[in-house]
This record gives sequence, C-alpha cells and structure tokens, in this order.
Amino acid sequence: MRARRPMLAANWKMYKSVAESQAWAEQLKAAVVEEGIGADRDLIVAPTHLALWAVATVLADSGVAVAGQTLDLGVEGALTGAVSAYLLRQAGASWVLVGHSERRQHFGEDDALVAEKAKAARHAGLGVILCVGETEAERAAGATWSRLTQQLEPVVARLSPADWAAMAVAYEPVWAIGSGRTPSPEEIGEAAAGLRQWLAAAVGPTAEATRILYGGSVNEQNLPEFWRQPGVDGALVGGASLAVERFLAMARIPLVPGGGTQ
Ligand code: PEP
Repeated sequence: MRARRPMLAANWKMYKSVAESQAWAEQLKAAVVEEGIGADRDLIVAPTHLALWAVATVLADSGVAVAGQTLDLGVEGALTGAVSAYLLRQAGASWVLVGHSERRQHFGEDDALVAEKAKAARHAGLGVILCVGETEAERAAGATWSRLTQQLEPVVARLSPADWAAMAVAYEPVWAIGSGRTPSPEEIGEAAAGLRQWLAAAVGPTAEATRILYGGSVNEQNLPEFWRQPGVDGALVGGASLAVERFLAMARIPLVPGGGTQ
C-alpha cells in the first residue's frame, strides 16, 4: 500500500477557450469510463476560471476533480474581477492552486498573501495545491532550502494541523517551469524527503497525509522517473497537460502499489 494516494494535476494557465476546455474534458471522461483511468490516483484539472464550471459539469461523477488556478480573498462583495474560494466551490472546484510562481512573479503575490489565500481556501473547504520553489539565482546562491521554508512558514502559521491532510505541496523550481529543464530525479526525491521531514516537524502527524508533488517541465517521458522517487506522490503539469493525449499518457503510467512506477 502507498502511504498516500498518488496525484496528477493539470494546470492550463491562460490557455483554452471554454469550448476547447469542454472538448478536452469530454475526451478525458471517455478514457476514465472506458479504461478506468484514475482508479488508482487522483486526477485534477485546473482550467481558467471562465471554463471551470463547464469542465466541472462534464467531469461530474467521473471522479476527476476540478481546481481553480488561484483565488481572491473574501467571500462575496464589491471586488470587481475577484473570484473567491466560495465562488470556486459553487462553480464545481474542489481544489485550488495557491502560490504558483507565475502568480508570485506577475501578480505580486508575496508569501504572506499566499498564506492568506491558503487559509481562505481551507476555510471554504477546498483542497490546496501549494506551490513553492526557488529561482535560479536562489539556487546558485545555495538558498534553495531557506527559500522553501520561507514560503512554507507563513502557511503553517495560518493553518491548523488538520488542514494539512487536505494540502498538497508542489515543489516547483521557478527555473524549471516551462523551460524544458528539470532537477535530476534524485534531486527531486531529496527535495520531497526534505519537505516531508520539515512538515512533520512543523505540523505534526497529519503532515504524513500531505501529498508532495513535483512540477516544472514534466512530460510523459520524464514523469515515470520522477514518480519512481520515494516520497514523490505525483506531479503538477503545465504545458504537457494541454494536449489531452499527453495528459492521458501520464495518467496511464503504471504505478506500483508500494510506491514508484513499473
Ligand atoms: C506549472 O504550470 O505549474 C508548470 C510546472 O508548468 P510546466 O509543466 O509547463 O513547466
């Protein structure tokens, strides 16, 4: 038995019209029904907010979950353009990405705001995929680990230990996102082990249930090696998730019940 249920999440970023999103979801659903894909792992799709309800409607009762790519604080109110955790849930999301490096870099989200968003998401009952990762300069300066803990600490401070059973931490080195470059499988395994050890000390026993994912230029060729690393529970995939055949290839990777891939 694996300690945790494996997870494969697709982040579509600012891609796909509503119609394209629906068509992708229909194809995934057909494979779920015909091949039983997803029976041994959680599959999660994060479309744009515009397409979220349409995708959730197609995937209802399929076992595939839908995630928001971000959220805004609050519930309802005079906040033009904002989308709260509550509204994401009403639209069919059961997960949300928080702290993606593109949100941090292009939308000025700092560690404290990311932590507030994680808290708001948990308050609304959403599972959270919390993205953490170091820049290339931080890595070169030997500051990878201090950057990761700097991102995690404010989240730990705001959540209860019980929340961590509904959390996934995605280790996403900023330099690996969309670049075609990745750490080695061993480095990814070491990062996952380090994150779990740190979480166990900071959060307590519920951290054992927190899924730890890797993200950054994952594709159907390199994912089996990453998934084989002990302690890597799955992946958050951007570019390679846009074509449904490629996501299906990743969702079909055979997993060994005790851990790893075949
Ligand atoms: C991501 O969007 O979280 C991501 C890792 O993107 P990509 O797979 O394209 O590097």
